[in-house]
Amino acid sequence: MTCTDEFSAPSTRHCTPYILLNTRKTGERGRFDAAHELGHLVLHSGYQSPRGPEAEAAADAFASAFLMPRAGILAQQVNNASVERILSAKGRWGVSAMAFSYRLRTMKLLSEWRFQQTAKQLAQLGYRKGEPGSSMVRESSKLISKVFEALRAEGTSVNDLAKSVHIFPEELNHYVFGLVPIGYKGGEQRTAPIRPALSIVK
Ligand SMILES: [Zn+2]
Repeated sequence: MTCTDEFSAPSTRHCTPYILLNTRKTGERGRFDAAHELGHLVLHSGYQSPRGPEAEAAADAFASAFLMPRAGILAQQVNNASVERILSAKGRWGVSAMAFSYRLRTMKLLSEWRFQQTAKQLAQLGYRKGEPGSSMVRESSKLISKVFEALRAEGTSVNDLAKSVHIFPEELNHYVFGLVPIGYKGGEQRTAPIRPALSIVK
């Protein structure tokens, strides 16, 4: 993954860092992208920021270890796991089947040959760019929902906000992960109840 092409999560180190996620990706990939950008902020926040393939690989390695802790993976006993086992085990971590397979290879739980075979099978099953059958809820922003709550308390409507940036309310809602009120019923605003499926990893 790189920060320059199909990926759209550039982070900035000026003042408060922001991470922008591509809403067209699956929840699993959005989660990895967020962790990847966190890796850049943690690893590359010095005066001279490293760029290029090495920095990208380091951010990917950070995201992989951050989302799939070594002890937790070892406890799953996924040594030489079959594709079926990988698909059932990856759900615990909220990652894509491909990311899970990479992690197993990095931890030497999959040989290079076995990894290549696994990647080929996963691609044939549609896991190269998607997560067939996944119902994972996309990660979202707590801050944005607080901002919209504050604006609502001030009497600023979603329509006002959308109009100020020249887009439809539905489009605004799409960009902010469905966190804004999207409709009105009996004079009351209705908020889309989307909550991230987060859990504590021991
Ligand atoms: Zn990057």
